[in-house]
Amino acid sequence: MQRIAIIGTGPTGIYTLAGLIKCRRPLAITLYESRAQAGVGMPFDDKVNHPIMLANIASIEIPAPDSTYLQWLKAQGAEFLERHGVCKDDLHDRQFLPRVLLGHYFAAQLHAIVSQGIAAGHDIQIKVNTTVNDITAGQPLRLWLSTSSEPKAYDYVAIATGHEWPKAREKKPCYFPSPWSGLIHTPIPATDVGIMGTSLSGIDAAMAVAIQHGRFVESNEGKTLAFELKESSRNLRISMLSRSGLLPEADFYCPIPHEPLAVATPEAIQEAIDQGPEGLLNRVFSLMVRELTFNDPAWSSHINLHTLTPDSFTDAYYESRKKHNPFYWASHNLEEVERNKKNRHTIAWRYTLLRLHEAIEPIVPHLNHSDLTRFNQSLKRVFIDNYAAVPSESIRRLLALRQAGVIELKALGHNYELTIKETKTYISTESGTLNFDIFIDARGQRSRRIDDLPFPSLKHLLVACEGLQPPIDTDYTLQAKSDGAHRIALAALPYLMPIKPFVQGITVCAEIGDAVSKGFIRSVECYEQALSAEHEV
Ligand SMILES: Cc1cc2nc3c(=O)[nH]c(=O)nc-3n(C[C@H](O)[C@H](O)[C@H](O)COP(=O)(O)OP(=O)(O)OC[C@H]3O[C@@H](n4cnc5c(N)ncnc54)[C@H](O)[C@@H]3O)c2cc1C
Repeated sequence: MQRIAIIGTGPTGIYTLAGLIKCRRPLAITLYESRAQAGVGMPFDDKVNHPIMLANIASIEIPAPDSTYLQWLKAQGAEFLERHGVCKDDLHDRQFLPRVLLGHYFAAQLHAIVSQGIAAGHDIQIKVNTTVNDITAGQPLRLWLSTSSEPKAYDYVAIATGHEWPKAREKKPCYFPSPWSGLIHTPIPATDVGIMGTSLSGIDAAMAVAIQHGRFVESNEGKTLAFELKESSRNLRISMLSRSGLLPEADFYCPIPHEPLAVATPEAIQEAIDQGPEGLLNRVFSLMVRELTFNDPAWSSHINLHTLTPDSFTDAYYESRKKHNPFYWASHNLEEVERNKKNRHTIAWRYTLLRLHEAIEPIVPHLNHSDLTRFNQSLKRVFIDNYAAVPSESIRRLLALRQAGVIELKALGHNYELTIKETKTYISTESGTLNFDIFIDARGQRSRRIDDLPFPSLKHLLVACEGLQPPIDTDYTLQAKSDGAHRIALAALPYLMPIKPFVQGITVCAEIGDAVSKGFIRSVECYEQALSAEHEV
């Protein structure tokens, strides 16, 4: 049997296993997980996430490793669901539910796939409370574990280690370098709290603080109506901070699965790439302009799309939003998306941008330095704003906190200086200095370079052979000129971000798991064919 190790049992590890068990030859697969429970994944683990935190993906979008999320939810007891604030009678496939419920679902999926895999003849082991500390390349590959002084040998390894967050700084107890570095379990006093970042993670951080000082009042349908602040918490002031001071918009209705694009097709994008890096961004932007004009001529004409460049598009995109108070905009946008969901009405330009971000991502590794900078400063921000829309309920909660006088938004502009001291954090901006007693950096997952890899031997080998950006194949295997070539798949999101800036979300984890497992199966089958040919000779 060929031996395969999967490091990490979050969604990426699970989808990789789901693909591997389709292999017609029996495999010996071991999954390693640092945490005590396998199959949960970092954003869905109830040990580090508060039950109030919502997922921004619904059953209809989640590729089913075994059963769909909705099928699994319907099979749960009403009491279990009730404990998570979910009414069994109201379940449907476009619902955004608490993230920790997804953790329960994925853990159940992992166990279902393991049973199927074993029934199909594979040997599958899960090792929890086991951290892989190092990987040495060679024939075989060796994994060094936290639980043993002897390495374990494998033919293939998938690195599906997911998110990496900075550890809490003990000497600065008033500073949280991420919402996942102890915030959830730390009592936060009713004082001035600064949260850097206004997207999903920033909202998570705001909720984690607010819920310690009051409660959200809900309607019978479970929609937030108000926030009741405890009398003793009158001094709580949460400031959400970003360069622009804007809030994300609410998730919008659109057909799923996504319909194909008419102009920016995979062939058209490939043709643009094949013409070389010079002018690539402009060529692709003109495809984008044609696609948007084709799908939403009225909006395109409203923003004068035909006069725009990749650089000026961003300002045109944000123009109307920037003219309004962000909370006013949020309430207006919430009303609009709720109406559209009810009427199953799609706003064509929003839906087109959503599909365009996936279509355009493959150009990123081919952009020259100057186009990459332009892309990062312009189109990338628009695409992220579009796809990182948050659940309507998150917007309702922010509006309720606003109504209760607890939360405000501050635009820092492009030039600000952040100084973190032991008991206070200061931010100097062009319009003055802000200071916070508690400061939470909630800017989300940063991209990582190979020299951050937590496997020292592999890191040194890759840096020495390939530099900081080793080539990665379409099946995510490293192509290093070393013994590890094509047998180690780098499926850890932060390390893929430099070449795939939009790599996140469960659907992407499923695509990665599918590609990695198919790549390994191809290699196993080639190896076995070669072996039987040798025997025949
Ligand atoms: C706060 C937050 C909320 C999110 N919400 C959503 C959402 O609502 N919808 C959505 O589609 N996407 C969401 N995402 C995106 C998220 O990237 C993916 O959904 C998903 O969790 C990524 O899965 P993963 O398996 O790659 O990584 P992870 O979920 O991080 O899992 C990796 C696993 O590997 C284990 N591990 C790491 N290192 C080692 C090691 N050396 N040895 C052994 N085990 C190890 C970890 O313990 C962990 O269990 C969210 C992300 C964040 C940060």
